Amino acid sequence: MGNVKKIVPLSLKIREYMITKIIQEEKIQKAKKYVEKGESFVIVTHVAPDGDAIGSSLGLYHFLTAYGKDNVSVIVPNEFPQFYKWMPGTKEIVIYEKYPDFANQLIREADVIFCLDFNEPKRIEKMAPAVIAAEGRKVMIDHHLNPADFCRVTMSYPEISSASEMVFRFICRMGMFDLINRECAECIYTGMMTDTGSFTYNSNKPEIYTIISELIKKGIDKDLIYRKVNQVYSESRLRMMGYVLYEKMKVYPEQQAALITLSLDELNHFRYVTGDTEGFVNLPLSIEGVSFSVFIREDRGCIKISLRSVGDFPCNLFAGQYFNGGGHKNASGGEFYGTLANAVAVFEKGLKEFNPNKTEELNKHA
Ligand code: 5GP
Ligand code: MN
Repeated sequence: MGNVKKIVPLSLKIREYMITKIIQEEKIQKAKKYVEKGESFVIVTHVAPDGDAIGSSLGLYHFLTAYGKDNVSVIVPNEFPQFYKWMPGTKEIVIYEKYPDFANQLIREADVIFCLDFNEPKRIEKMAPAVIAAEGRKVMIDHHLNPADFCRVTMSYPEISSASEMVFRFICRMGMFDLINRECAECIYTGMMTDTGSFTYNSNKPEIYTIISELIKKGIDKDLIYRKVNQVYSESRLRMMGYVLYEKMKVYPEQQAALITLSLDELNHFRYVTGDTEGFVNLPLSIEGVSFSVFIREDRGCIKISLRSVGDFPCNLFAGQYFNGGGHKNASGGEFYGTLANAVAVFEKGLKEFNPNKTEELNKHA
């Protein structure tokens, strides 16, 4: 076959729109059977859900509902930002932290459990034991490297820029493109948009735009979605951003890197609510010559690290080596247990000594 890729029509009716077959046929058929036969469905996604986590989960939720399934639940480990709450279906989302017993029961009784936008049980934290113990058939739909082996069907394709795009591909490949309604399309688009920084990174694959074109035909208003996600911040968040840029950003010109830190006291001063620091980590990347940016934020009980890069710098390997984390080459995260000052010291040590080849070697032998 060489480089000849198989293409499939999005819909039997619309033959002119084609997308490549990325997900293996066998996986599609297996998962399709679960969809057909299952009666109760649970969709779970990672802790601190982002736009792709919520978008892919609700996209699949709307599809299953349109297919005629009336027992579908989306469960997320903890709260998610206010600026995703306009998405259709968010009111139905069960937050595990708030209702653990109810959520555990749903997980235990589900015929099928979809695991979206995460690659290992660790990423769903307190929900992990219930999901692992559940007897329902598990299907992973994800785009992170190195998926753990805990699902019956593992659809993991890191070359796809969002789990939401994976959900779109999954539905089309089951031959059910026509069941994508406007609500489903809005959620899928939101995930595709947020995981590519509004199509400014990981977004050079032409088929992304074929898909967007189809989503627009389903009735989405992509300009409005951009505004609903990106232009609904509070005054205090904007002031905090000003503070961060003026007072809290340190640039390391020799390493082409930048660091932002925020303590709990500072966050409280700006009346921080979940989501307020979203995007801060990307800000230093707009400086010419800065290609690696790290944001260290004090949380209750631990320090959260967000890492972003442009180009070849593998910030997931940096996250793995210094902050017990991982993620994508250009967008990753991790955690640190200790003081903010210690986390900064670890970062600065990393800047001096980081060697991506060393981490790759370690991974090979792990
Ligand atoms: P964020 O900086 O937005 O919190 O996370 C960016 C990306 O990094 C996420 O989409 C996820 O892939 C990854 N990530 C974030 N935190 C962690 C973590 O603690 N462990 C791992 N393995 N990946 C993480
Ligand atoms: Mn994602």
